Amino acid sequence: MRLTVIGTGYLGAVHAACMADIGHEVLGVDIDAEKIAALSEGRVPIYEPGLQEILGRTVGSGRLRFTTSLGEAAEFGDVHFVCVSTPQRRDSPACDLRAVDAVVEGLAPRLRRRCLIVGKSTVPVGTTARLSTRVQELAPEGTDVEVAWNPEFLREGYAVQDTLRPERLVAGVMSPRADHILREVYAPMLSDGVPYISTDPATAELVKVAANSFLATKISFINALAEVCDATGADVTTLADALGYDSRIGRRFLSAGLGFGGGCLPKDIRAFRARAEELGVGGAVSFLREIDEINTRQRQRTVDIAREMVGGGFTGRRVAVLGATFKPDSDDVRDSPALAVAAAIHREGAEVRLHDPEGMDNARAVLPQLAYAPDVEKACDGADLVLHLTEWAAYRRIDPAALAAVTPARKILDARNTLDAALWRSAGWTFRALGRPTPP
Ligand code: NAD
Repeated sequence: MRLTVIGTGYLGAVHAACMADIGHEVLGVDIDAEKIAALSEGRVPIYEPGLQEILGRTVGSGRLRFTTSLGEAAEFGDVHFVCVSTPQRRDSPACDLRAVDAVVEGLAPRLRRRCLIVGKSTVPVGTTARLSTRVQELAPEGTDVEVAWNPEFLREGYAVQDTLRPERLVAGVMSPRADHILREVYAPMLSDGVPYISTDPATAELVKVAANSFLATKISFINALAEVCDATGADVTTLADALGYDSRIGRRFLSAGLGFGGGCLPKDIRAFRARAEELGVGGAVSFLREIDEINTRQRQRTVDIAREMVGGGFTGRRVAVLGATFKPDSDDVRDSPALAVAAAIHREGAEVRLHDPEGMDNARAVLPQLAYAPDVEKACDGADLVLHLTEWAAYRRIDPAALAAVTPARKILDARNTLDAALWRSAGWTFRALGRPTPP
């Protein structure tokens, strides 16, 4: 099939490459000419494990091409996947749909072929119905075009495997024909037994925001308990293990720490709340405000504990920050809790030296006022305090005894609860974590 993928960011670049890899002819489209130039040469402009190889292969084979022209896309595609950004609006918690609207306004009048427009971006419930009406108004008379929604559930860091072997596919369709087309697009996944849920567009749109709301709730639940643990001397990691053995609960997403961030969860729960209010059912999901507040409170808690660890004030203190991205195995720093903490302690007067395995360039673009170190040792050299803020596997392999040689103060705050407390303490470090007791 001939597919276009409009918007080639964290979602679209992966989707385009994977669709080409399973045998489709794919045209990727973006307004960012620099990104399109890089992708056309088979160069991945983001860090996503496995993507470089698959992009190189599919661009090399000629099955994947890129353009900035929506006209070319309109001429080419049987199916148009919309993967553009849907960030939070600047003036409210609601979703900014300008990019999605711009794609529809630009694409629909240029359509001549029979085709299906399939949204993958995360959007407020009701968007497909609204866009469908708009497409019928804009498309040239006699053009057979329909809109469907097929929300995306990939996780950055696992995006390639999540696209090629998703846990489920959800298709929000308005006709058997649209359903048939989507089944054809995903035929290799369906023959591998991937569950395929065919439903109406409103349900499909809601599945995505419901999934993100549930995950955010699980994280904030355990972080709220971490606060209670800190007040009582209990240990949140043991608590989470014990809870997690209950098969009705499960251990995943019960890791207490600095909380969630990134380009999805925070803005998606806010947009859901805003949309529910518009629909007159704001009360039904008002708990999401609390989930959001618990989440952002962990950033302040981390700053407060760090301040206490350096003696009550950051002025003149040197702080090493390990981690800039919102999660490991990604270079994405959008709404990153690690950067929020780094910025806050810098504002309070600390000299911050930051390290991240993949996110340094993106972090520097957002926070040029910080110092950046090429490795962990240089970040920690002479630091009064080390903050572990993103749980990269490489940080778990740090030898605390060796690091003590450059960090005589030997103080670390593990805000992700993934370092081995006993190991660090036995190497003479003052080791603190969120929601876990500190031995006297
Ligand atoms: P992104 O910012 O990385 O990518 C969006 C791309 O769209 C950018 O390259 C941008 O230049 C391009 N774009 C913007 N306006 C355009 C236009 N008018 N025409 C063509 N291209 C345009 O964002 P992302 O992380 O890929 O997210 C995209 C959507 O996917 C969002 O709705 C997001 O919520 C959803 N999503 C993201 C993930 C994820 O892990 N990143 C997972 C699931 C769903």
